[in-house]
Amino acid sequence: MKILVINCGSSSLKYQLIDMTDESVLAKGLVERIGIEGSILTQKANGRKYVIEEPMNDHRKAIELVLGALVDEKEGVIKDMSEISAVGHRVAHGGEKYATSVLIDDVVMKELEECAKLAPLHNPPNMIGINACKELMPKTPMVSVFDTAFHQTMPEKAYLYSLPYELYENHAIRRYGFHGTSHRFVSAAAAEMLGKNIEDLRIITCHLGNGASLAAIKGGKCVDTSMGFTPLAGLTMGTRCGDIDPAIVTFLIKELNLSESEVNDIMNKKSGVLGVSGVSSDFRDIEDAAAKGNKRAQLALEIFKYKVIQYIGSYTAVMGGVDCIVFTAGLGENGIDIREEIVNELGFIGARIDKERNNVRGEERVISADDSKVKVVVIPTNEELMIARETREIVEK
Ligand code: ADP
Repeated sequence: MKILVINCGSSSLKYQLIDMTDESVLAKGLVERIGIEGSILTQKANGRKYVIEEPMNDHRKAIELVLGALVDEKEGVIKDMSEISAVGHRVAHGGEKYATSVLIDDVVMKELEECAKLAPLHNPPNMIGINACKELMPKTPMVSVFDTAFHQTMPEKAYLYSLPYELYENHAIRRYGFHGTSHRFVSAAAAEMLGKNIEDLRIITCHLGNGASLAAIKGGKCVDTSMGFTPLAGLTMGTRCGDIDPAIVTFLIKELNLSESEVNDIMNKKSGVLGVSGVSSDFRDIEDAAAKGNKRAQLALEIFKYKVIQYIGSYTAVMGGVDCIVFTAGLGENGIDIREEIVNELGFIGARIDKERNNVRGEERVISADDSKVKVVVIPTNEELMIARETREIVEK
């Protein structure tokens, strides 16, 4: 069975065609600048790179070219589109309605439209991608895999904000959490790597990329996560502020005369380690600057690590202990120094790093010392594979 995984953004689209017999990636690609001048599709398959530069006014055209690239006589990996058994779509927000992935039909599409209110930046492009695929492959089953679904097991006390209850009842204002596909994938992979049943484990997963979040996973179920009603909450991120006193928002609007969109822009695009350091949102640049003595870059790193440590402490308390801490995503998989510095602050829970084992990038490995009471591991995330697995499961049902 071959499954096409599609992750559609507002002007970009990532895809992978996965052969589920051995979970190998037959082709992967990226389309950029959809609807903008200079549209470009880059596909990697058969050990080769295939580039298509031609105008793509919309996502339908982009997906048409993706399918064309997949069946291309010279550069493609399948003979006919009918070889694609199903399409798995990454969808940002499933609201409270979806705690699992779902086969897409007209009813689901209506409900996704409802959810779009909660994720106005992300769900609409996801839906455009689904519609374009449905038009071009009307007979192929499509599955929606939600970033929020894994977190739907959180108890009320973890997901409810202390706002008037009516705001939850009437406007669905609550914590949802994101990166769920990644948290789910790496927690399952960690249990497997440790040879343990996930039901017996208390795991804290640290998804540290440009966007960053932590999840507390007890017995395989998410019991808390750091992102909230939107992906702005929680940790300090590349450009997002994470948790701040909400009164700052009204202060900025009232005292600095900023508009709603200006405040939004500050919190989402000008804050985080970029905002503090003034250097970059990329941790590599910040680490370089910090090493050269840049005080604000050093401070940005300190704040970032402090938040991760705070959350790990909090989630350890929430779960009554922790058996395993997982690092994943760009920084989690590659940030050797940051991992070491974080784990060094976790002596109080008995975590100890093994410096040599930790000297690794992008590879599945235990990085804690043999006498560490908590297993600390690096697991490269693979959201596409998780989406493909989910899609197969739903389609086979
Ligand atoms: P996203 O998918 O959220 O855009 P990624 O998971 O790709 O983000 O992570 C991007 C982040 O990972 C960047 O901030 C980058 O600094 C960090 N990163 C990637 N490689 C390294 C590395 N070798 N050392 C330190 N940080 C790295």
